[in-house]
Amino acid sequence: MAESGLISKKKLEGKVAIVTGGASGIGEAAARLFANNGARMVVIADIQDEVGRRVAESIGLEQASYIHCDVTDEEQVKAMVKSTVQNHKQLDIMLSNAGLLSRSDQTILDLDFSELDRMFAVNVRGMAACVKHAARVMVEGHVRGSIVCTASVASCSAFDKFIDYFMSKHAVLGLVRSASNQLGAHGIRVNCVSPYIIATPMTCHAVGMDPEQEEEVEKIFEPNIVLKGLALKAIHVADALLFLASNDSACVTGHNLVVDGGFLIK
Ligand code: NAD
Repeated sequence: MAESGLISKKKLEGKVAIVTGGASGIGEAAARLFANNGARMVVIADIQDEVGRRVAESIGLEQASYIHCDVTDEEQVKAMVKSTVQNHKQLDIMLSNAGLLSRSDQTILDLDFSELDRMFAVNVRGMAACVKHAARVMVEGHVRGSIVCTASVASCSAFDKFIDYFMSKHAVLGLVRSASNQLGAHGIRVNCVSPYIIATPMTCHAVGMDPEQEEEVEKIFEPNIVLKGLALKAIHVADALLFLASNDSACVTGHNLVVDGGFLIK
């Protein structure tokens, strides 16, 4: 793992964080980085139970735990947030990160709405449920918390395929901007990060490769970014998530922090 984010002082000392989709990819990298930065407890919420439990164990069960939570089910989200507060006394950080990629052949002419619904249930409804229930307990507990969502460069660009994915990530940006406006009175910050393509299990499968072929997948997308000599990795996104989760970004809210190696500038 790259050293960035690990060499500075512990930014999350004493904080309790939830990371949805924390069993894999960007969420896993963030869960590890949050724990390395002193988080008192990182609750990994996912539907991949065995993998999620292994991630929590490898971080150390004194600092991390796993809970099954399908974010498409609001009751499960509510219960997961409630049990976090019951077990750890508070919730300071919600990283709403769980997400799916759609089928690449989704265009406006061939839009399959059952596919759109399946993805929106996670990427939009699920994100909103996590923001809602985290915000509720933060307001009730008078916690000036930080809520961070994983959006995507798809939140502010267009493409010739994946229309439902792009729509879903635009919705995440709308959620973040509106919720930040509504929660500012309570001192709660809401932001998102927007990564360009990172080789995670999600993207490796999308290009028909195995997650072990991470470097080959990176090589496919490297030419699209402006910064040369650099492969975008989950840890780079995790660094941005850590910034938004911590007090380093105390005055930042409603922001979309793009982590794209300059992809969008072209
Ligand atoms: P990933 O597949 O490695 O991880 C996603 C995790 O979300 C998995 O552990 C999965 O089990 C979990 N998940 C899926 N559905 C869930 C549900 N209903 N309830 C709870 N957990 C669920 O993918 P990733 O690349 O790490 O993606 C994480 C986030 O980053 C997603 O929101 C994705 O859209 C976003 N993103 C990824 C990239 C990229 O290139 N990898 C780029 C931009 C944005």
